[in-house]
Amino acid sequence: MFRKILIANRGEIACRVIDSARRLGVATVAVYSEADAGARHVALADEAVAIGGPAPKDSYLRGDAIIAAALATGAEAIHPGYGFLSENPGFVDAVEAAGLVFIGPSADAIRAMGLKDAAKALMDKAGVPVVPGYHGANQDPEHLAGAAEQIGYPVLIKAVAGGGGKGMRLVERAGDFTAALASAQGEAQTAFGNPAVLIEKYVEKPRHIEVQVFGDGTHAVHLFERDCSLQRRHQKVIEEAPAPGMTPEMREAMGMAAVRAAEAIGYKGAGTVEFIVDGSDGLRPDRFWFMEMNTRLQVEHPVTEAITGVDLVEWQLRVASGEALPAQQDDLTIRGHSFEARLYAEDVPAGFLPATGRLEHLVFSESCRADTGVRPGDTISPWYDPMIAKVIVHGPTRAAALAQLARALDDTQVAGTVTNLAFLAALARHKGFAAGDVDTGLIARDLDALTAQAAPPLAARALAVIAAAGLEDGAGAGFALWAPLRRPVAFTEEAAIRVLGPGHVSVEVGGGAHECILRPDGWWVDGAKTGARFHKAGGVVTVFMCGAHRFDIPDPLDRAAHQEASDLTLAPMPGQVKAVFVRPGDMVEAGARLAILEAMKMEHTMLAARAGRVAEVLVEAGGQVEAGAALIRLEEEEAA
Ligand code: ADP
Ligand code: ADP
Ligand code: MG
Repeated sequence: MFRKILIANRGEIACRVIDSARRLGVATVAVYSEADAGARHVALADEAVAIGGPAPKDSYLRGDAIIAAALATGAEAIHPGYGFLSENPGFVDAVEAAGLVFIGPSADAIRAMGLKDAAKALMDKAGVPVVPGYHGANQDPEHLAGAAEQIGYPVLIKAVAGGGGKGMRLVERAGDFTAALASAQGEAQTAFGNPAVLIEKYVEKPRHIEVQVFGDGTHAVHLFERDCSLQRRHQKVIEEAPAPGMTPEMREAMGMAAVRAAEAIGYKGAGTVEFIVDGSDGLRPDRFWFMEMNTRLQVEHPVTEAITGVDLVEWQLRVASGEALPAQQDDLTIRGHSFEARLYAEDVPAGFLPATGRLEHLVFSESCRADTGVRPGDTISPWYDPMIAKVIVHGPTRAAALAQLARALDDTQVAGTVTNLAFLAALARHKGFAAGDVDTGLIARDLDALTAQAAPPLAARALAVIAAAGLEDGAGAGFALWAPLRRPVAFTEEAAIRVLGPGHVSVEVGGGAHECILRPDGWWVDGAKTGARFHKAGGVVTVFMCGAHRFDIPDPLDRAAHQEASDLTLAPMPGQVKAVFVRPGDMVEAGARLAILEAMKMEHTMLAARAGRVAEVLVEAGGQVEAGAALIRLEEEEAA
């Protein structure tokens, strides 16, 4: 086993790797960017080395700086985590040239799977079923349109260098093909520097089922499947293992195909073979096809760990340090069922825009495994993926595990940023999902219901009124001041409080009066225990009580907030300015493109709110901005 390893990553995955390394007695070295000097992964590691500025290209993507840090600290091996340099064969070569071990597959194996077209051709040869389609070299639009016609609509256009759902377009009919092709190629060129695409048959009622594999460079085993069909815009939201409705025949067929795929490229370490499955008629062994192989540890690996009892990071370290595969296929079995939900700082009602903020309050449920890279008081910065944590549960049956997931999400408390918690909790209670009737279109079909903001329950509103009045700790000292008058309280709706005694108030809200009493186990409302907790900051009161209920308390003195700002185009989310299309003095029409803002996995085009002349351009391409930052100012409209 290694004595010391370096982790070339950040956030939850760096913390996750450190955990296993520590358990194995392996010392750890963290690397960090300027934005991460106080980050959790730095605090957890035995040593830490600064490698540059906050932008990934200045730090976490700097292979040379990372290798130098490993050599300087005496680390023997480098764990790449996921994202960043994890699937970069040039980095693997450089690590090995420096006399270090890369904890992962060979550069050649990564290269073989790096481009989707070449990978499909290779898998086809190895006898692995691939999605019917065109993955040839001819990129002539006429030719591709002809290929689409032959495959039969609907088809999917995919960037051969794609990842993270980018450069992908679903085309339903021939008339839409040309425009979709141009936009997929454009996005692929910007995101991957490679405009090449392939065309695939779009599978009906698609389910994403992937198989975890593990190889020693010659032989491979599989650790069963994960179902990742709950997706939003081709990105995973909730994953589970095993797949609902899986049959022994189908599992055997998929497992063998995945092992064939891994062995065909001499795979070493942890990898995932992703398949698309036609779920229109149950799960059938002749209805799954290879999509791609991810040559790294995957975000959702914990559900596999939960059902197999294997620590995949431990296996990675053992095999990379020269040990044999820790288990044979027959040693591996499935126990129970597991779910993972990805908790993000994002503004769901605004269209899932990534958000930032300081996590003033952060508590995870005690009944789950929470893999996280942040602690209370840490900040979700605009520089990286806004993931807060992965909430993972394990139960004896799927129904039990799903109930645990709903409960764990309800018990998760985050204040200081908006999150997708309510959306995840709604998914965990979705009837079709509970029935195991999943496909990749589920979220889009039911998006309105899943994102509908239910009015907070009356008890939560009553308690928020108490907090808005500053009486949440019981009003002991303030009792004389308040009693026995009825006083209106500035709240999101009409509300008033009458203090009846210390820790005893009557709250008028929602057209009725509610008796609230503070007992040793917290606030009771109308005779019922609530278990509520409060958080107050910056004009926001959050009541945690079966989920988080946020209330923006109006400040009667704050008029500036309502000022007209139509001259200014503001950033709706934190991100990087990809392009600016206007210069001071330009005349623009209403709806004209002003700039493109990109946050991880998402591009947002900023449009002119009205016609006018550009007075000022306050950003430049490449710059990083916070949500709410002014980007472009138009000249004031002249009075007509
Ligand atoms: P996975 O395929 O493991 O589920 P995703 O599809 O969510 O991962 O992510 C797409 C790409 O973004 C992958 O290359 C993944 O490694 C990367 N990625 C995802 N989350 C993060 C993160 N928190 N930090 C860095 N990279 C990430
Ligand atoms: P990425 O590299 O961006 O992860 P994938 O090829 O893995 O791209 O596909 C991402 C997602 O797109 C899949 O999980 C699935 O939801 C959907 N998808 C991909 N190929 C097909 C297909 N042929 N038919 C239907 N859906 C597909
Ligand atoms: Mg994929």
